[in-house]
Amino acid sequence: MKKALISGITGQDGSYLLEHLLAEGYEVHGIVRRASSFNRSRIEHLRTNPDVYDRLLFLHYSDLTDGTSLRRIFKKVQPREFYHLAGQSHVGLSFEIPESTCEEAGMAMLTILEICRDMDNPPRIFHAASSEVFGSSSKTTEHDENSPFRPVTPYGCAKAFAANLCRVYRDSYGLFISNGIMFNHESPRRGENFVTKKIAASAGRIAAGSQEVLELGSLDTTRDWGYAPEFVRAMRTMLNQAKPDDFVLGTGTSMSVREFAIEVFSALGMKIAFEGRGLQECARDVLTGRTVITVHPRFYRSFDPSCLQAGIAKARSVLGWNPTVTGRSLAELMALAEYKADMQASYQTTTAEEDGGEHQSRRHVPST
Ligand code: NDP
Repeated sequence: MKKALISGITGQDGSYLLEHLLAEGYEVHGIVRRASSFNRSRIEHLRTNPDVYDRLLFLHYSDLTDGTSLRRIFKKVQPREFYHLAGQSHVGLSFEIPESTCEEAGMAMLTILEICRDMDNPPRIFHAASSEVFGSSSKTTEHDENSPFRPVTPYGCAKAFAANLCRVYRDSYGLFISNGIMFNHESPRRGENFVTKKIAASAGRIAAGSQEVLELGSLDTTRDWGYAPEFVRAMRTMLNQAKPDDFVLGTGTSMSVREFAIEVFSALGMKIAFEGRGLQECARDVLTGRTVITVHPRFYRSFDPSCLQAGIAKARSVLGWNPTVTGRSLAELMALAEYKADMQASYQTTTAEEDGGEHQSRRHVPST
């Protein structure tokens, strides 16, 4: 049985990768960190499954800033594959917390590479690099594995540092290390401070009548948005190639925030129309005339020139990777997932009220 170790197993990608590896017959070990509130919601369905937890899935406490415990975990688990997905993953936030971002997205990679270099039988390593290494472009431009790194954010700088280190350790020590240079990928499991999730969740609440207005930033911002479960499949394929290499992962299409919002509302049965410009721009429900989206200065960047699109010819030809979910189908998928979750939540609230809420109080909180 193949044994894999995942850092960031509680995150969006880590949770999908865990499901994918279990389905492929792996034993999976995950690194989790201590938080003041228990933070396992994305993997709870597996952690509470007695056929899986402590049989096929094992969790270990550590932190990217704690080299000693990381070394101990690698020594104990002796993984054949290591997927490095952990770290502060919000680009905008990296301006607020640059030091911890660079520590986690950059320096932690060095710690891990040194640990693996010292092992008798080092694992194959996947590094979650980012399209942020390419920086920005004022017109829609395709970027591939040969495009130069010109990061313009602390997060991008840290990812570029880590990706280059991976190349150095691959060439100098013969370690099997592959960089996945990934464009944005989303899902219903995306954190709510990412714009796609924020739009889908708010639109669901607006359609249900529990929220009035959604406040957004720059509506012209354009991204190559893909679907996370498709990306994690590429991660595993990369580590099961004959030789390590770097691959750009994305969809090769792009969409603006405005277009994404239109598609999300449309999937929920609401037609919206935008009017005005810049900070005065807003969207109305065409049927009722009600304002459902406004632009808030707090989220607004007057100049966000990043119009990068992924060039994925290499991933298609070498990995046989063909992403099928792109902007429009992604918007629909996320909108419907929010709708379903809202329906389930309101059903559970009704049931809880009917049985006095008793079933909610019996919660077992284990150690990992
Ligand atoms: P998430 O933010 O959803 O997950 C990040 C994970 O890292 C969480 O499990 C989090 O733990 C963990 N983590 C954060 N800091 C630490 C730390 N100091 N020590 C240990 N664990 C930590 O990110 P995604 O799943 O979306 O992304 C996975 C990786 O891919 C990230 O490295 C991201 O930068 C990169 N990437 C993602 C893209 C995307 O569009 N999703 C695009 C390009 C790259 P906890 O749950 O406790 O917070």
